[in-house]
Amino acid sequence: MTSQPLPRALPVTDRTRHRRLREQGSVERADLEAILDAGFVCHLGVVVDGRPVVLPTVYGRDEHRLYLHGSVASRSLAADTAVCVTVTHVDGLVLARSVFEHGVNYRSAVIHGTARKVTDPDEKLEGLRLLTEHSAPGQWSYARRPDRRELAATTLLAVSLYEASVKIRTGAPDDGDGPDAERGLWAGVLPLTQAWGVPVPDPALRPGTAVPEHIARRAGTRQG
Ligand SMILES: Cc1cc2nc3c(=O)[nH]c(=O)nc-3n(C[C@H](O)[C@H](O)[C@H](O)COP(=O)(O)OP(=O)(O)OC[C@H]3O[C@@H](n4cnc5c(N)ncnc54)[C@H](O)[C@@H]3O)c2cc1C
Repeated sequence: MTSQPLPRALPVTDRTRHRRLREQGSVERADLEAILDAGFVCHLGVVVDGRPVVLPTVYGRDEHRLYLHGSVASRSLAADTAVCVTVTHVDGLVLARSVFEHGVNYRSAVIHGTARKVTDPDEKLEGLRLLTEHSAPGQWSYARRPDRRELAATTLLAVSLYEASVKIRTGAPDDGDGPDAERGLWAGVLPLTQAWGVPVPDPALRPGTAVPEHIARRAGTRQG
């Protein structure tokens, strides 16, 4: 599916305008893209039967849109529905002198949109490829691709990346130059990182089946 390039500055709309902690906001689309590319799990917020539900789910993306998938039976994957999707990376705990000033160093993105059900077979396959490759680069070529029955059992939604916001917090606690600095308490940041482990073979694996290179090389690399 071709579209005009999205503006490199994120639009400030009624929904995306930061009202609190504005200094942490960014309007750079590059920051949004970096946050999306650093993760593969989002939280999909949607109203089902008049009640909000927020569910974790994996995603993929191209330049214009996010792709989400699941069972055709999933009630949260409804077409033409207003959605809010968030992606969050926690980089550290900010430990201040006062409990009030404690915080989190993070990168987060919020996407507001209307979910579109992908019905075009070519776009559906491409969306599923992007989704697979986003979390497991190399698997689309390695594993068996979905057949007609599996495709029919899968809903693919597309959400435009146009209306999105970003917040990023980095650095030390905010009370280093306040009266609590006199207390002599330790304050600082406790960093948090995630890394991929060593691949664990399926016990049902046929003897001698090697770990493919595209999986083996991720062991020990940072995620997030
Ligand atoms: C891991 C983590 C922990 C946090 N913990 C707290 C906490 O304990 N208390 C607290 O007050 N805040 C916390 N925040 C910040 C929180 O996400 C909100 O940004 C903040 O509370 C302002 O909320 P608001 O309702 O006033 O948002 P508003 O400024 O009214 O939100 C308006 C719009 O700004 C955008 N926006 C708001 N927050 C974010 C965000 N985080 N990322 C991207 N876009 C955003 C959205 O598009 C939203 O619709 C945390 C954030 C993260 C990532």
